[in-house]
Amino acid sequence: MNFEGFIIHHTACTERDHQEEDWDFMILRDGSVKAAPSLRHPEYIHICLEGDFNLEYSLMDFYQKRQLFQASKIIIELSRRYEISPLYLFPHHDTCPGINFPWNALVIYPAGGYH
Ligand SMILES: [Zn+2]
Repeated sequence: MNFEGFIIHHTACTERDHQEEDWDFMILRDGSVKAAPSLRHPEYIHICLEGDFNLEYSLMDFYQKRQLFQASKIIIELSRRYEISPLYLFPHHDTCPGINFPWNALVIYPAGGYH
């Protein structure tokens, strides 16, 4: 499959056109990760964070920061497996995961990635 990138959601999403079945990876507040049995979308891999992530990073608690760390690890792993740039991260919607979502916390440059 040729993926275009990753779409990030949070469970506080008010765009109810997507529901539980819509994510490929869910990162729970305790830091654990649930994976869908298979990737369900042809163009994007959907990653959902449990909670409300419409916050600046400095205002997040320990659990949320750990969730962001887990998300960035998954993104790096999947970007290698499927040859997707880990920089191709997109919000689901204006309000999801929110205008204050700390995108910088998810952007981890792969080792040796200075081009
Ligand atoms: Zn959403």
